[in-house]
Amino acid sequence: MAELPITFADIQAAQQRLAGIAHRTPVLTSRTADARSGAQLFFKCENFQRMGAFKFRGAYNAVARLEPAQRAAGVVAYSSGNHAQAIALACRLLASRAVIVMPSDAPRAKVAATRSYGGEVVFYDRYREDREALGRHLAAERGLTLIPPYDHPDVMAGQGSAAAELIETVGPLDVLLAPLGGGGLLSGSAVAAHALSPGCTVIGVEPEAGDDGRQSLRAGHIVHIATPETLADGAQTLHLGQHTFAVIAARVSDIVTVSDAQLLETMAWFAERMKLVLEPTGVLAAAAVFSGQLALTGKRVGVILSGGNVDLARYATLLAERPAAEA
Ligand SMILES: *Cc1c(COP(=O)(O)O)cnc(C)c1O
Repeated sequence: MAELPITFADIQAAQQRLAGIAHRTPVLTSRTADARSGAQLFFKCENFQRMGAFKFRGAYNAVARLEPAQRAAGVVAYSSGNHAQAIALACRLLASRAVIVMPSDAPRAKVAATRSYGGEVVFYDRYREDREALGRHLAAERGLTLIPPYDHPDVMAGQGSAAAELIETVGPLDVLLAPLGGGGLLSGSAVAAHALSPGCTVIGVEPEAGDDGRQSLRAGHIVHIATPETLADGAQTLHLGQHTFAVIAARVSDIVTVSDAQLLETMAWFAERMKLVLEPTGVLAAAAVFSGQLALTGKRVGVILSGGNVDLARYATLLAERPAAEA
């Protein structure tokens, strides 16, 4: 078998870079959640990570790995979501400069958050301009290094540190569930689980409207889809990456999907029962557990809660208007 783009040693090196800088986020348990699922659940709470999501891990690891001259020149990233804020914060901590390409209609809160971390925001027209081309243009013109949101070995290794911490904290698992967008988190998690908990089944969870990952795993090649309409904006990716797919194909057992209604019901459950504020993408893995579609009875199951960045007014509206839960 061909060598994978990252090894467990890369994740361990990322853990050392992140030590004392990223939070070692808590692992929470809940008897109510265990009773509901029939499993023993361990929730890795990356909503408590710096800037509110696991993306800080990969961004910091990637910026820390740059050559001094590259770091001095700065970094460019395109994202309207958590990767942008993660890169901006990582660059501030590592005395680099971040240029973030964002759609001109990006939520003001996200623009403000990126700027508050010291990032320079360059807007593009999402209907007329190609953000990747603009990112490449800025990189060439200003000598910046482009750090993509998932398809990069240093980003993947950094994301894998969350699952490594989880297993170090609670011991071996039977099953590990992670949300899936472009696959940085899932691929890193799978490499960590393979090394620290051999025999652990790793499962990715996607929004029902955008199951390109599941299609890709079954087809054995990367399947592209149109922009999926889902509340899980952190998983609205159109295709997996070359590097992430190579790892997922080798190390991930299955990919399942959940509906937006299940995401909302799960967000409400966490707010009520565990007092956790989570964004729709952040509850993908937990929603799969509660959907009952997986055989988890009696098993030790790790669940990554990937982030909690959701505008408070939108959060309130989403929960107030959610459809009634199925009996
Ligand atoms: C980006 C993101 C994901 C998906 O991660 P990938 O590495 O793209 O698969 C999941 N949850 C949250 C909160 C995210 O920001």
